[in-house]
Amino acid sequence: MEITVGSHVWVEDQELAWVDGVVTSVNGNEAEVETINGNQVTTKLSKLYPKDMEAPDTGVDDMTKLSYLHEPAVLHNLATRYGIKEIYTYCGNILIAINPFQAISHLYDTELMDSYKGAQLGDRSPHVFAITDVAYRAMNNEGKSNSILVSGESGAGKTETTKMVMRYLAYLGGHAAAEARTVERKVLESNPVLEAFGNAKTVRNNNSSRFGKFVEIQFDACGQISGAAIRTYLLEKSRVCQISEPERNYHCFYLLCAAPPKSCQEIEKYKLGDPKSFHYLNQSSCYELVGVDDSHDYLATKKAMDIVGISVEEQDAIFRIVAAILHLGNIAFALEGEDSSVLEDDKAKFHLQVTAELLMCDLEALETALCKRNMVTPEEVIKRSLDPLGAAISRDGLAKTIYARLFDWLVKKINVSIGQDPDSKCLIGVLDIYGFESFKTSSFEQFCINFTNEKLQQHFNQKPGGIISLLDETCMFPKSTHETFAQKLYQTFKDHKRFVKPKLARTEFTIVHYAGEVQYQCDQFLDKNKDYIVPEHQELLSTSKCSFIASLFPSLNAETPKSGKFSSIGSRFKLQLQQLMDILNSTEPHYIRCIKPNSDLRPEIFENVSVLQQLRSGGVLEAIRVKCEGYPTNRIFSEFLERFSILVPEVLKENVEENVACKSIMEKVGLSNYQIGKTKIFLRAGQMAELDGRKAKL
Ligand code: ATP
Ligand code: MG
Repeated sequence: MEITVGSHVWVEDQELAWVDGVVTSVNGNEAEVETINGNQVTTKLSKLYPKDMEAPDTGVDDMTKLSYLHEPAVLHNLATRYGIKEIYTYCGNILIAINPFQAISHLYDTELMDSYKGAQLGDRSPHVFAITDVAYRAMNNEGKSNSILVSGESGAGKTETTKMVMRYLAYLGGHAAAEARTVERKVLESNPVLEAFGNAKTVRNNNSSRFGKFVEIQFDACGQISGAAIRTYLLEKSRVCQISEPERNYHCFYLLCAAPPKSCQEIEKYKLGDPKSFHYLNQSSCYELVGVDDSHDYLATKKAMDIVGISVEEQDAIFRIVAAILHLGNIAFALEGEDSSVLEDDKAKFHLQVTAELLMCDLEALETALCKRNMVTPEEVIKRSLDPLGAAISRDGLAKTIYARLFDWLVKKINVSIGQDPDSKCLIGVLDIYGFESFKTSSFEQFCINFTNEKLQQHFNQKPGGIISLLDETCMFPKSTHETFAQKLYQTFKDHKRFVKPKLARTEFTIVHYAGEVQYQCDQFLDKNKDYIVPEHQELLSTSKCSFIASLFPSLNAETPKSGKFSSIGSRFKLQLQQLMDILNSTEPHYIRCIKPNSDLRPEIFENVSVLQQLRSGGVLEAIRVKCEGYPTNRIFSEFLERFSILVPEVLKENVEENVACKSIMEKVGLSNYQIGKTKIFLRAGQMAELDGRKAKL
């Protein structure tokens, strides 16, 4: 479309990403624009986008209905809709969901579920239920598995969206008879259990999932839920011992500290009480969450545990372990002699004693396991003392291992309890996995997360896999350091076009991901890749008198990897991811992209720059670009005629078919390369704007 004085356009803006304005003068290939926020901007004509002055005030529910399909129009449409609490918008068959950060009334009611049942996509306003309904129907009609992939950055609303998908599936595939309803109840109640143990408050989200999750819901031939399997990925273990302001540790610790003392004797039993007295919790001054009652949630979690089939005895053991970890963290060490450590004071002794009681293991054995290491020489085994720092690291390692095993146990238990349907032919998989991450310090975790996203975006290339192999090799070589690892990386990938060694870098490397460049710090890659259990810890807990705890640390036999021996977290993750990809590749995928509209987690604030960034990294703009290569815009004949017959008024007088009239208009204006369908005309990118331009000139 020709841009002339008076044209309404979008122009780039530092603060707002795009701002609209009116062209006040044109000089050669430059234009001056007066923006609505009162600025005079001079810019190249090629950097201006026409603004659709006929766009409806309420926006359009599918981006493909935009007359001008370009970045500023997409952004403006989402902002407009968000302003009137329309959080869902389609972009073709992708659902964009913008976190409202407030409850929107009736948005997830049963009546609303009823109305989406069996409806065609597009018949009703965009919704998670609509996408889920399409997946469910496709599964029933075609006998093929489907999957719903929910992505987005932390706090964007993935987990909430996933829960709505699961609720709707339980509604569609639920059983009429109450006694048969246990499967879907278990599936739904697995959420609060896993959230209590795997979610925490972070800077980005008060209820951040610190693990990835894939739920596979199985259906029988009648389309009823017959089983389910939950797979989890990469729980963040470091949080158990290390948190920083204003974050929290995993919810379960605070829930237990807040356990109502009257109904249960928890405080007495676990010697807990004030969370401020525990080292693993008081590294941050955040103990309570606005709008969350930990004491209520404790009971709710126990109830959910009942439903998913965790017995009272098991629950007792689970919370005993949670309490033990808190006491374990309070065992402080002091220097003795040159390089040995002893318990710091009576307080440390008290906590050692409580930990041993709760873990039901020998007190002295616990102290030795924390403060000493066995040195195996050809002649004998010598006990070597650890210094206080070494003992603290040993203690934290033990806490992390116990917690991780507990979490794995919960997942396994829930799976056994829900049960798998061996005869199920069809499933719907729901993936809730962290989006692309790039921080000031990006480490091993970000590497794994971004690796996953590359795979999910189908932009996968072999390199990250190559990096993990190299990391494993480095880990197995005793004298390696993160520096030698970095050197190996630089050598191996020096000619790779998506690998960059930053100038002067010694231990950093940059990967050009599809969603942008990320610089990784190698420092902790080696440690974080090692899944290692100290043999003394293994020995201690496998002999616990609590059978639950002992079962988390089965004695070693030929099948389990030898304790003390390195097993690679990166490689295991890579394998899990490959299995996930295999499942996903055998399904028909549906995409939901969650968007976080602001970083204050507050309703009604829509930050353009950040939203645009997320649309880019989530592949939404990419999808639009692909769409633009085809015929991105279409209009029903009558609509098209209503808008443009003014260009060729005689077409209305002639008594011709609508499609012929549309053709005449295109011919008169001199546009070719469009398509006429059965009921609609399909236009190339920019053709709509061209037609509007002609209209403006009349
Ligand atoms: P993370 O990657 O950190 O786990 P996430 O994408 O899973 O983040 P959620 O935990 O689903 O994010 O959402 C964060 C918060 O946003 C929720 O706790 C809730 O307060 C709010 N929220 C998300 N989706 C909705 C919704 N549809 N309606 C109302 N509030 C929502
Ligand atoms: Mg989440």
